[in-house]
Amino acid sequence: MKDISTQLIHHAYQPPAGFAGVNEPVYRASTVIFPNVAALRQRDWKHRTGYTYGLHGTPTTFTLEERIATLEGGRHCTLVPSGLAAVALVNMSFLRSGDELLIPDNAYGPNKSLAENEMQAWGISHRYYDPMDPQDLSQKLSARTRLVWLEAPGSITLEFPDLPALVAVIAAHADRHPDGIVSALDNTWGAGLAFNAFALGVDVSVQALTKYPSGGADILMGSVVTRDEALHHRVLACHMRVGYGVAGNDAEAVLRGLPSIGVRYRAQDEATRALANWMQNQPAIAEVRHPALPGSPGHEAWRRDCTAAACLFSAIFKPAVSQAQIDRFCDSLQLFKLGYSWAGPMSLCVPYDVSTLRTQAWPYRGGLVRFSVGLESAADLQADLAQALAKLPGQ
Ligand SMILES: *Cc1c(COP(=O)(O)O)cnc(C)c1O
Repeated sequence: MKDISTQLIHHAYQPPAGFAGVNEPVYRASTVIFPNVAALRQRDWKHRTGYTYGLHGTPTTFTLEERIATLEGGRHCTLVPSGLAAVALVNMSFLRSGDELLIPDNAYGPNKSLAENEMQAWGISHRYYDPMDPQDLSQKLSARTRLVWLEAPGSITLEFPDLPALVAVIAAHADRHPDGIVSALDNTWGAGLAFNAFALGVDVSVQALTKYPSGGADILMGSVVTRDEALHHRVLACHMRVGYGVAGNDAEAVLRGLPSIGVRYRAQDEATRALANWMQNQPAIAEVRHPALPGSPGHEAWRRDCTAAACLFSAIFKPAVSQAQIDRFCDSLQLFKLGYSWAGPMSLCVPYDVSTLRTQAWPYRGGLVRFSVGLESAADLQADLAQALAKLPGQ
């Protein structure tokens, strides 16, 4: 008889065959056992014909990858530890020293900061373009442009771009770089539900699974989805070299969030539109940004390309309301908590100084608050906004 410690590790237990629960079991592994040396030499991480090492995937992460690819209308998915890691992985997969990277001026802030720091230090230059002006993108593309980021709508200020027009501009210039130009969309807002990024011509779609797919405000994860196999292999090869693995339990948590993503997206969409509409009629508010509101920048492109909208709206206050008063308004809210991220069960808000976020001039003098609408009752949320607005002077 072997020692008890050996017996505990080499235990005879096998999971029962024919145990058909609704959800698959969770697999966690760093080591994956090979039956013999020949199998160890043959197994190919690239085509996912088998398992080689936890970092390169388990049944749980492969399942989640397939479902995210399905959600987005893509074919291949690579999981990474956060939405920001997905942005970084795309940059590292496609950009080489001497290349240039184009980013919309209203992009997710950390994407810009990555370009300004690590990318710059690695000899990769960047330029910001106006996503609402395809002509501006056309002028900024050069023979060095290798990657163009797209975001729909822009973070914080929520302008919805004409994606097919931007993609057409990129396609018209693609043969200038010897390796072509990759278009990559940050699709966190659309989540695969508001529009089909690949049908609109995008090459790569990334998502912060942290937001809608998780839905719980308690998981960080990201995904990189493609339709094209060569692009996918480029991403996968880089993924293997940088060690961006995700944990089995985290993948399981996202798998548990996914079945309700459609109903959550629609419920949050409905509540957000109602609140955005109500908010734009309040006397302290100069303008509300939400792609489904007529007059919000890019509303026509949103109406043409989308069937739904996410849970975000931004309110721009009248210049007479000071930043200190806006801060007090945010502090007076009880259901809307102060915190980053969105698409979770709890409503959130954050005040922003937009002039510090972009290179283009921002024409408003009043402050902006970005709201993320959760799954609480819309009537309760409206009452919360009303009581906090009523505390502003002159209301
Ligand atoms: C939140 C977010 C990210 C980053 O996701 P993390 O998981 O927090 O790193 C990227 N892009 C957009 C548009 C986001 O809202």
